[in-house]
Amino acid sequence: MAKIFCIANQKGGVGKTTTAVNLAAGLVGHQQRVLLIDLDPQGNATMGSGIEKSKLSKSVYQVLIGHANIKDAVQPCASAGYEVLPANRDLAGAEIELVELDERELRLKNALSQVAHDYDFILIDCPPALSLLTLNGLCAANGVIVPMQCEYFALEGLSDLVNTIKQVHAKLNPDLIIIGLLRVMFDARMTLQQQVSEQLLAHFGDKVFSSIIPRNVRLAEAPSYGMPGVTFDKTSRGAQAYLEFGAEMVQRVRDMDAIQKKQEEVKP
Ligand code: ATP
Ligand code: MG
Repeated sequence: MAKIFCIANQKGGVGKTTTAVNLAAGLVGHQQRVLLIDLDPQGNATMGSGIEKSKLSKSVYQVLIGHANIKDAVQPCASAGYEVLPANRDLAGAEIELVELDERELRLKNALSQVAHDYDFILIDCPPALSLLTLNGLCAANGVIVPMQCEYFALEGLSDLVNTIKQVHAKLNPDLIIIGLLRVMFDARMTLQQQVSEQLLAHFGDKVFSSIIPRNVRLAEAPSYGMPGVTFDKTSRGAQAYLEFGAEMVQRVRDMDAIQKKQEEVKP
């Protein structure tokens, strides 16, 4: 049964999509079966996986509004070996259409229940907004991965996201937790980044992943070749960091399973 993770941060351009496609590829590198959901009308995770977003006959949009079965909309990322539920601009309309539908925040969760047995990990690349689409992602997920740059305003935006996650946890999805904060585009030479990183560790402790993703130009170049950086240049520092992060996620899921098993054992 797949573990489902949202990659979310309502701030734009913080590295959500780069994390989603490279973690997907990194997990494949650790023999995991992975489905990547593009939940952003920009379709960047789709293009970054080598799938042409203007030529989709079925996408996550049709799945959410109930016009297509998820199994018919999934496509392979040929270069990296994971599968993709792609998106394009059609998805922007779903935001309005979903409001009229039953269980509007549970549409993705219901669709994923049909394929959860086919994968070890399902990753959801969220748009840069706390919208109904992101809410669908949060309701479907076991946990949230928050990529963030170690900059001065990074912590401010975090509180809105944390509050939204708390509300979803309380009202809609009791399973939902923040799995961890991932430091991305990190430049160790910048004193400010070091300081913010230390603040993060002081504040959030082991909720901060030990893997750190450096700023690395190969990761930024890869999408124009329709490939995750991990497959585009496996030896680059960025690719190596995402492979290491993949290993850390596999371990976190093992730890989560062990805790759950223990809790079940102590239940009378
Ligand atoms: P949006 O909010 O628009 O969806 P995002 O949070 O998904 O954006 P990305 O698209 O992943 O962010 O990254 C923003 C830009 O930063 C892209 O041009 C990407 O190539 C670049 N980038 C991301 N991570 C790195 C990195 N570690 N090193 C260098 N460039 C990076
Ligand atoms: Mg993105």
